[in-house]
Amino acid sequence: MEKIDLLHPVLRSKARLLINRAAEAGFRIIITQTLRTKEEQDALYAQGRTRPGPIVTQARYPQSLHCWGLAFDIAVIIDGRANWNVAYYDRIGPIGESLGLVWGGRWSGFPDRPHFQLPGYEWSRLETVYGTPSKFIATWKEEKPMPEIPPWKDQVMKEAAQAGIIMPNIHKPQEPADKAFVLAVILNLLRVLTKN
Ligand SMILES: [Zn+2]
Repeated sequence: MEKIDLLHPVLRSKARLLINRAAEAGFRIIITQTLRTKEEQDALYAQGRTRPGPIVTQARYPQSLHCWGLAFDIAVIIDGRANWNVAYYDRIGPIGESLGLVWGGRWSGFPDRPHFQLPGYEWSRLETVYGTPSKFIATWKEEKPMPEIPPWKDQVMKEAAQAGIIMPNIHKPQEPADKAFVLAVILNLLRVLTKN
């Protein structure tokens, strides 16, 4: 399994897009870190505290969105090697932002230029709602191939569309009917009935 496949499905596609958009802008980037296990986050947190090296994170497990599969780090490759010149990252950051990602380079206290994450998530809220990263990950929905639609369903949908009761682009037979779906069908039906 590739590292990128360990990310939340939405972030996974954005990470792939970022690689492509960066390439279009003339930069080769690689994904260096995605989902972090407890051991990996603990080791990272120890660095610069109980182990040698500079401090690289303020987050204990699971306080980083990396632990929840909602963040990834990049490296810019120049002449076949990772290059940490901030000017390159300051070019990539806004590209990531244009894809709807949060860029760590904007963080005032502890700027983290190689870091990108999905907006709208906080580790504390994730912990409250899901408990642990593995429980959160278990809720991810993979993009599944479209299920086969039996011909009679297809026919019913076609006739309902022709009668003006459903809108075929919105009401798809393979999707479950929620309240809004049912109400839309009823409203459309009333509209059709009052017209005649
Ligand atoms: Zn990061």
